[in-house]
Amino acid sequence: MAKKRVIKRSWAEPFKIKVVEPIKMTTREHREKAMKRAGYNTFLLRSEDVYIDLLTDSGTNAMSDNQWAGMMIGDEAYAGSKNFYYLWDNVKKYYGMPYFVPTHQGRAAEHIISKILITKGDYIPGNMYFTTTKLHQELAGGTFVDVIIDEAHQPENEHPFKGNIDLQKLEDLIKKVGAKKIPYVSMAGPVNMAGGQPFSMENLKEVSKLCKKYKIELWFDATRACENAYFIKIREKGYEKKTIAQILKEMVSYFDGMWVSAKKDLMVNIGGFMAMRSKKVFQAARNMVVIYEGLHTYGGLAGRDMEAMARGIEEMVDFDNIKARVGQVEYCGKELDKYGVPMVKPFGGHAIFLDAKKFLRHIKQDDFPAQALVAEIYIDSGVRSMERGIVSAGRDLKTGKNHHPKLELVRLTFPRRVYTQAHIDVTVESIASVYQERKNIKGLRITYEPKYLRFFQGRFERL
Ligand SMILES: *Cc1c(COP(=O)(O)O)cnc(C)c1O
Repeated sequence: MAKKRVIKRSWAEPFKIKVVEPIKMTTREHREKAMKRAGYNTFLLRSEDVYIDLLTDSGTNAMSDNQWAGMMIGDEAYAGSKNFYYLWDNVKKYYGMPYFVPTHQGRAAEHIISKILITKGDYIPGNMYFTTTKLHQELAGGTFVDVIIDEAHQPENEHPFKGNIDLQKLEDLIKKVGAKKIPYVSMAGPVNMAGGQPFSMENLKEVSKLCKKYKIELWFDATRACENAYFIKIREKGYEKKTIAQILKEMVSYFDGMWVSAKKDLMVNIGGFMAMRSKKVFQAARNMVVIYEGLHTYGGLAGRDMEAMARGIEEMVDFDNIKARVGQVEYCGKELDKYGVPMVKPFGGHAIFLDAKKFLRHIKQDDFPAQALVAEIYIDSGVRSMERGIVSAGRDLKTGKNHHPKLELVRLTFPRRVYTQAHIDVTVESIASVYQERKNIKGLRITYEPKYLRFFQGRFERL
């Protein structure tokens, strides 16, 4: 009798493809020209010239047939649209926050929350910065202070919860500047800039306790909260049997308020909101949204957008859906590992982060190694990625000097439900080829630098 073989049991996505969008195949020569025209900044490429678009997972997700069907029942009334009430109900039901104000995307909510809560001279501690979050805190007169654990700044450190807040750092800051100067602690998870790293429920509980002790509010950037809940389920003791929906609700229960970019977890192309427990803050936010976004029952969105968001909330807590997404990221990481490509570990929830400092040891940080690598990968294969290093970190608004972040990364971000495993294989093979030829890559110099968030519109040329 033949010996029984051990058979590998794979999993696959819990959906199939109904509609396809053709993508353009380009030549190296074409891409070389396109990159030069775009000033070596992938944000300035035309999407038509991109083969596999891993720039971001923001608003680039594939909506489900159920979400598309919902778009047809958009109630486009100026005031009191039924989609708004359905969305509010789902925010209450799934996040457990009583008050809700829609905005056209996440940063609009960050803007309004920052304006309401921050007074000039305040400090806002957070678990590493996010570009738009920090800028809105600064524009409101505050100073962002990074209180994430040290492990988050070490690419190879395999700590399972690198998004955790260092309680000692937080308490030291409170003692130094005084609790009155800290309007809220800003917590995000998984932490994008650290490589998509989650915080643990245990850490969140301790942060919440510390905040209560000093009467400081705790606010949640819940943009990727479901992915954080997924990591808690698979990595933290006591949560194995809980559903994503239960973990999400428990997480949110420790916060006073939150903001969300619906372009991530909720799998829509546009949308955002803020939600809170305080009626006073709710009223202030509702009042401010009419200045910047639109009436408080649409906040810059069409009725159909709110319907797609409401349905997205129901889909985002599906375990198999998140497993497929995080599984795709992990697959990419494991394949790249076979070629020895330096990356941030453990692999994050939404993206693989290449360690550009190690990848391009011969390029000094002031010559923008991650930006150079992003350009090179695009030229090699048409795969579009994003710089998350010295360009993204920007300058100190007061001194005008460049920030020099410890992490100099290239982010390959996976839109939800968009690409197949074969697309990932092509991506991996391209990066492995670029890695082999890395010695030939040159640094860049800036030729145009806008004042705010320079990574979006800055232009470069090869040294
Ligand atoms: C995308 C994002 C934002 C900003 O949201 P937009 O919808 O892009 O304005 C804020 N915080 C986090 C963690 C994000 O990922």
